[in-house]
Amino acid sequence: MNRLQNFSQMRVRFAPSPTGPFHIGGARSALFNYLMARKYGGKLIVRIEDTDLERSSSESEENILTSLRWLGLDWDEGILVGGDYGPYRQTERLELYQKYAQQLLEEGKAYYCYCTDVELEAERKALLEQGEMVGYMGKCRNLSDRERKSLEAEGRKPTVRFRVPTEGHAVVVNDLVRGRVTFDTSTMGDYVIVKSDGIPVYNFACVIDDALMEISHVIRGEEHLSNTPRQLLLYQALGLKNPQFAHVSLILGKDRTKMSKRHGATSVTAYREAGYLPEALINFLVLLGWSPPGEEEIFSLEELIQLFSLDRVAKNPAVFDLDKLRWINGHYIRQSSIKRLVDLSIPYLQQAGIFASVLTPKEQAWVELLVAAVRERLSSLSEIVQEARALLHHEAPLESEEAQAVLREEQVSTVLHCFKQKIMDLEEPLDVDRAKSLLKQVTKETKLGGRKVFMPLRVALTGKMHGAELYYLIPLLDKEGCLNRISAVLQDTCV
Ligand code: GLU
Repeated sequence: MNRLQNFSQMRVRFAPSPTGPFHIGGARSALFNYLMARKYGGKLIVRIEDTDLERSSSESEENILTSLRWLGLDWDEGILVGGDYGPYRQTERLELYQKYAQQLLEEGKAYYCYCTDVELEAERKALLEQGEMVGYMGKCRNLSDRERKSLEAEGRKPTVRFRVPTEGHAVVVNDLVRGRVTFDTSTMGDYVIVKSDGIPVYNFACVIDDALMEISHVIRGEEHLSNTPRQLLLYQALGLKNPQFAHVSLILGKDRTKMSKRHGATSVTAYREAGYLPEALINFLVLLGWSPPGEEEIFSLEELIQLFSLDRVAKNPAVFDLDKLRWINGHYIRQSSIKRLVDLSIPYLQQAGIFASVLTPKEQAWVELLVAAVRERLSSLSEIVQEARALLHHEAPLESEEAQAVLREEQVSTVLHCFKQKIMDLEEPLDVDRAKSLLKQVTKETKLGGRKVFMPLRVALTGKMHGAELYYLIPLLDKEGCLNRISAVLQDTCV
């Protein structure tokens, strides 16, 4: 059967737990869901899974939602936008979970468990020592009413445990990425579905929500694969229709261990703040697990909607390669308009203390020139700060032995003196055209080939062998900056 056959009326969801800043792994799940919804004309729902009351925070929720919007991943139903299946925050749905827990209790498919954490820990330890699989042993599975009453009289607050069926020992997940995955339920042990404070656990709330919200496909990270048999058993017990599942592989660092803070930034915000463009992150994230049909690796969101398919999502883990992200970001920086880059760059320059909160028109023009000069070389926008700093210092420290050697060439004194003279005569303000004609005059007057003129000028003005075009650098340094730097070099080397 064609796996795509039942993709009509697709309802997918992204269901983050707001327990920290938005992780790139979460962003990738959101993106894959988004692409599937848009490709098949379905709906994307965003639901907040905040049943871990201690770790959930409204700041994290806001961070996730703001980041989704920044990435351009809009959703059709859910938190902030509403819809017919709300509320879309789990802590606002507690009554619903209660009702379904009650149903399971009444049908004998779940039971109250009075074991305390200390007792459970002791049981776990004992099992481990005996080399047994760790799972609840079922102490409260068949309590009589009297036993229950007496435990309650002790002041114990029960959890609700799901009674894992004893008949049949396998649950099969037909995963759209991983194929058929079979789980043995005989060692699973009855698991908690509602905690003693009445709050449902993730596996329970998620099942109720996915069913009530009529989710057709659950696309999420591989770390949830082991939850899926537990969820499938709950669908069966509740008589609810389960969605299809697709588990996307883990993201690993370059050392092939699970991507974590050790490998560098893991949050979308960190990349945003470091000057990565949303379209670059999208393009990078989609390649973490999905392989495009041809050689091309650069795709807009629109193109991805056409091209994306679960068939090309790999089972093997994806490796997070920062160099690749930098390369992709560089591509999108070069594609962007100067105006956009200027607007995005100014906050970095302000934060670095290079400019005050409001730029003068002259400063604004300087940033425009700077962006035009260096955008070919940028891998992230925050690098604009070091580019600006390099131009604002009085002197340009020589970068290398190679650069020093350039200044020892015999024609250098002639070139620098000629340049100095010409620039002194030049009308202000300097601009690219004036700088171009200045360079032409110096070449003509010194009767020297391009390299013999431009290399010493570049090294004298920037200290470096490579960089932006000289005709940008000259107006960026302005008359004063050029003269300072040339004079410093003339003093040091060409006495
Ligand atoms: N709230 C879960 C998480 O953030 C989502 C799991 C799921 O998609 O089912 O990991």
